[in-house]
Amino acid sequence: MISDLDKVILIERAVIESVLSYAQMLHPREAILLLKGKVDKQRILVNDTWIPPLATHGNTFSTFPLHMLPMDFSIIGVAHSHPSGALRPSVTDLNKFYGRVMVIVAYPYRSEKNIAIFDREGNRLKYEIV
Ligand SMILES: [Zn+2]
Repeated sequence: MISDLDKVILIERAVIESVLSYAQMLHPREAILLLKGKVDKQRILVNDTWIPPLATHGNTFSTFPLHMLPMDFSIIGVAHSHPSGALRPSVTDLNKFYGRVMVIVAYPYRSEKNIAIFDREGNRLKYEIV
């Protein structure tokens, strides 16, 4: 079986921009965005973001009711911000993993250097911006 570690992960530039600007806008609160895209044998493509319908400003990723999301297979993961600046998932993040990829954007949210992508085990995945 091919694991996600062997897949090419492609993220559209517009997705990077929206994750960065949404995180800046909500800082110092935590921002959550759903990631939409396509998964096939060789690659995972992230091509759209979506503000979760149930997001309220008090929610953080760790309190967000992921089980209440609509069953939509084009949702391939969740992006959330770390106002603390830590560019790695917490234990709670991994316990709440949803979809195929977890994108973390860390303060100061300036460029893709502040963005990292992880799989369910917490491995950092390489990605390309397209
Ligand atoms: Zn987190």
